[in-house]
Amino acid sequence: MAKKDDLRCKTKKMKVYKFGGASVNSAERISNVAAILERFSDDDLVIVISAMGKTTNALEKVVQAFYAEKKEEALQLFDEIKRQHLTTAKYLLVTHYLACEARLRDCFTEVEWMLHDAPVREFDYYYDQVVSVGELLATCIVSFYLSERGIQNEWVDVRDIFRTDDNFRDANINWAFTQQQVDRYIQPLVQQKKWIITQGFIGATDENESTTLGREGSDYSAALFANMLNAASLTIWKDVESVMSADPKQIPDAVPIHSLSYNEVIEMAYYGAQVIHPKTIKPLQNKNIPLYVKCFLDADLPGTIIHNSVNKDLPPIIVIKENQVMMELKTKDFSFVGDAHAYQLYQWFNEHSLRPTLTQNGAISLIFAFDNWEEKISRFSSAAAGMFDVHVTPGLTLTTIRHYNQAALDRYINNKEMLVKQQTQRNIRVLHRS
Ligand code: ASP
Ligand code: MG
Repeated sequence: MAKKDDLRCKTKKMKVYKFGGASVNSAERISNVAAILERFSDDDLVIVISAMGKTTNALEKVVQAFYAEKKEEALQLFDEIKRQHLTTAKYLLVTHYLACEARLRDCFTEVEWMLHDAPVREFDYYYDQVVSVGELLATCIVSFYLSERGIQNEWVDVRDIFRTDDNFRDANINWAFTQQQVDRYIQPLVQQKKWIITQGFIGATDENESTTLGREGSDYSAALFANMLNAASLTIWKDVESVMSADPKQIPDAVPIHSLSYNEVIEMAYYGAQVIHPKTIKPLQNKNIPLYVKCFLDADLPGTIIHNSVNKDLPPIIVIKENQVMMELKTKDFSFVGDAHAYQLYQWFNEHSLRPTLTQNGAISLIFAFDNWEEKISRFSSAAAGMFDVHVTPGLTLTTIRHYNQAALDRYINNKEMLVKQQTQRNIRVLHRS
């Protein structure tokens, strides 16, 4: 036991970095990542990387074609992904090109093998086997490129470390086993001052099937590494200057926020802000590990620190979720809405993987808002129709403002045609027509 603690103490200075898809979406961007890493050559780093650019979306199309038994189309779509990765590798590598190509081709073969068969298992299983390859390809190229630049590093297949259950596409980490693997394989590499290049988003079952942790799950992987390695910090490198008070694409005068509490970020993510994957905060908060959000386009910008702090004087933080539907459920027999109804509804939500973005209870009715996943919503409505009269209203937007003030209310709320409004001292949430 003492020995293990010793190990962990010594690695107190180690840090985890996470680079998202946009930071490695071209040869130029990959060389930019290397340039950033070179600035931190004194640190011990575990570096978690996502799939290049939109590769995950492209792989989703491959698996959809495969599952629709359009084999030729699936293979063609996959060829395009192969070509992109080989081109990037060729552009970046000279001495290490052949070794890299061999490793990429191993990954390609893994997928193609599968694509040549007909699907016999559930979609989600194939999804994970195919989609997980995006992170393997990207990390492989980055790792060889760093070697080419003289930056020593060790490529680790995270599927040997992150053990999950077989809940494909939303797999759950087996903490105890994964911690053991981290101690056994990752800690010693950190001790030897080796930089580790590994994948976010993916893991494997005890039967060696690949799994994924949910879209955009790399932040969460990086947080798990930080937790299990007792890292000094986690840095997520993004294409934004820092966390902003709103999405600048929706609100151009959004302002940067340089310091946030874990609590604030959890709330923001919960209400739908696309800042950081919502599962990321807990592993960090539990060990009081600060999270830095930094800009890979300009590493000198201050970015944001997310830590154990109390935030005062935050600007209004605005989250706008478009494309919402409202569902009103009224008990058929005029009975009060009780625990049994709620229990049943939440079971259906689970079954249909629906998560309400807003809920409101009345005496004989319930109101929910959802992202407009038409198919899921209509399946859910059919299930609920036995117990409730169901009424669905599409074409809505859900606006949440934390720390609102009068100016923000006037600008974003009061001029809207509201269907539901929920207000506390700190928060206001309004479902309104778009
Ligand atoms: N590549 C995965 C995705 O696009 C995971 C991630 O980027 O975090 O969802
Ligand atoms: Mg991503």
